[in-house]
Amino acid sequence: MANFFTDNEDLRFYFEEGIDWDPLVEVTEYGYRTADGFKSAREAVGFYRDVAEMVGELSAEQIATRAADIDREGTRLDGGEAKDGPAMTAVFEALKAAELHRLCLPRELGGLNAPLLLYFLAGEMIARADVSVMTHHSFHGGMAMAALAYSVHEGTTDIDAVRAHVSKTRFSSAIEEMARGDAWGSMDITEPNAGSDMAALRTRAEQDENGRWYLTGQKIFITSGHGKYHFVIARTEDAKDPNDPFAGLGGLSMFLAKAYEDGPNGERRRFVTIDRVEEKLGHHGSVTAALSFDRTPAELVGKRGEGFKYMLVLMNNARVGVGFESIGLAENAYRMARAYAEERRSMGKTIAQHEMIADYLDEMRTDIQALRALAVEAAYHEEASQKLALLGRFAGLAATGREKERMEKELPMHRARSRRLTPLLKYLAAEKAVEIARRNVQIHGGVGYTKDYGAEKLLRDAMVLPIYEGTSQIQALMAMKDTLVGAIRRPHEFVSRLAQARLRAMSSRDPLERRVARIQSFSLSAQQFLLTRTAAGKLKSLADVPVSGWRDALTKGWDPKRDFSLAMLHAERLMKLLADEAIGEILLAQASAHPKRRELLVRWLDRAELRARALHEEITTTGGRILAMLAPEQEALAAE
Ligand SMILES: Cc1cc2nc3c(=O)[nH]c(=O)nc-3n(C[C@H](O)[C@H](O)[C@H](O)COP(=O)(O)OP(=O)(O)OC[C@H]3O[C@@H](n4cnc5c(N)ncnc54)[C@H](O)[C@@H]3O)c2cc1C
Repeated sequence: MANFFTDNEDLRFYFEEGIDWDPLVEVTEYGYRTADGFKSAREAVGFYRDVAEMVGELSAEQIATRAADIDREGTRLDGGEAKDGPAMTAVFEALKAAELHRLCLPRELGGLNAPLLLYFLAGEMIARADVSVMTHHSFHGGMAMAALAYSVHEGTTDIDAVRAHVSKTRFSSAIEEMARGDAWGSMDITEPNAGSDMAALRTRAEQDENGRWYLTGQKIFITSGHGKYHFVIARTEDAKDPNDPFAGLGGLSMFLAKAYEDGPNGERRRFVTIDRVEEKLGHHGSVTAALSFDRTPAELVGKRGEGFKYMLVLMNNARVGVGFESIGLAENAYRMARAYAEERRSMGKTIAQHEMIADYLDEMRTDIQALRALAVEAAYHEEASQKLALLGRFAGLAATGREKERMEKELPMHRARSRRLTPLLKYLAAEKAVEIARRNVQIHGGVGYTKDYGAEKLLRDAMVLPIYEGTSQIQALMAMKDTLVGAIRRPHEFVSRLAQARLRAMSSRDPLERRVARIQSFSLSAQQFLLTRTAAGKLKSLADVPVSGWRDALTKGWDPKRDFSLAMLHAERLMKLLADEAIGEILLAQASAHPKRRELLVRWLDRAELRARALHEEITTTGGRILAMLAPEQEALAAE
């Protein structure tokens, strides 16, 4: 039987050697003191491996075999309800029967208490079979986990610290319904005039005299928006002026709205109208809905004005999820390309033996392995930080001294690493999935452009990955700001990192460490260039400011839109450098611990080193012409 786990050596490496399971299982199992939990990491990892093997088989046998039908059948609006096609329905019956929607929920809420990392790795295999299945699947268990996380954050979940057991949680019935696969949720943010710019959201939430909340407005592009439970971001506050804390993002709040209720005879009462199901380039099995809210009853989640904060709680997981989804799609495209290239002959040999195609295939394989290393690392730190924070939130849950020590010492490190790696993963995995899917089409030649092999489907499906859950450009801006602001706040640390990288690049004993350090040097030196240019621009702008005003202008008077313009122009190039820097560090650590991974590092370095040099060159020598072209418009905008 085909199996997407057992046939993937790189994926198996993580289960067997590449993941430090012990500390993760220890926090997941609350120090092995729950009555119904695992009693050792070995026992737990054995179970995770069985789940991975089961998902591998289900993905290969039940989903991949239906992917072409799912794509052809699509979804449709019928009598006000969005309907899946028969193939998608059959797949979700199989997922429900396999109890996959409840994988990570606590046992007492009907779950299997598996780590999120297993959920993500399973997601990669499902996405390799079909990305629209993976997307819709994530709005079942993923939304149930979001509901639990929101309740924990707002303080409406009680945990019995002795038994390490959720004794009460606010959304328990919705969580259990989603875990059973009887309902699913969605995250409703985007509106016709507000996508990347969330501060422009207009959907309103108003309270009646009894304190009940109602939502009115329109949301578009809502994945799985035909579900029952909708987390909706809506405006609750009107700001008096732009400096009001409730202005822009500060005026948004998070709500949970039920879209419908079913009566005893199956009759449905709707509170949210599905206006349209989008006709899309790809992802045909996944419903993307336009929705209307017209005084829809809703419950406030958290406090007023905390909507953006609550959205971020979910967003990191969602972005890591898109990273794994992209890798699954890329794995499929690479394998399809390789199989075709090994079979198709031209000019006396298989096309896989032609130099250029061999080079493409080698790069595709290397990129996928590098991305998986980045993804596992990002997911690990994200999960460890969430779980250690949970121990910290509930007094007594961190029972042993070791747990307390870990919480205090390790939490800031996991948080910082997850914050650094998540946008890099979302950006690079999504962009690479498109690139690899396009190469797959090209390697197939003419039949790649037809529907015969399914290569064109992968390219259509891939195109949305750099758009949803924050576009590539937004990821690049976030990473650039985080990186440069970090260097401004901690200049000594930055200078010391640069000096150390340069030293290692010249004098490290391990030649591979020297090469990784060279990439770090290129990245840090590009950052230094952007910082000095930004500072120089600021100093120049002080020419008209009296000296007495310099202090204020240098400490408070930064306008990110104007002062960081060169860094914003180069944000995507910097993003690529940052991603290569991070991947280099991760692969070097793997190679040190597992000598057999040195071969991957060498393969990856052969391309990454030259790429880093070119990106550094581009950042430090170009951009002036575009900024000069934009300057008059920027001045006009600043004057408004
Ligand atoms: C299939 C699909 C599923 C989706 N699912 C959901 C969902 O479940 N829930 C939900 O709320 N939304 C969802 N979305 C919406 C998605 O998150 C938005 O489309 C995305 O955030 C971009 O917003 P926009 O379409 O308004 O584009 P815009 O914000 O108008 O951006 C257009 C282009 O301009 C770029 N851009 C914008 N601002 C800047 C800037 N400051 N600097 C540089 N470039 C910039 C963007 O990167 C993009 O390339 C989905 C979209 C699709 C296509």
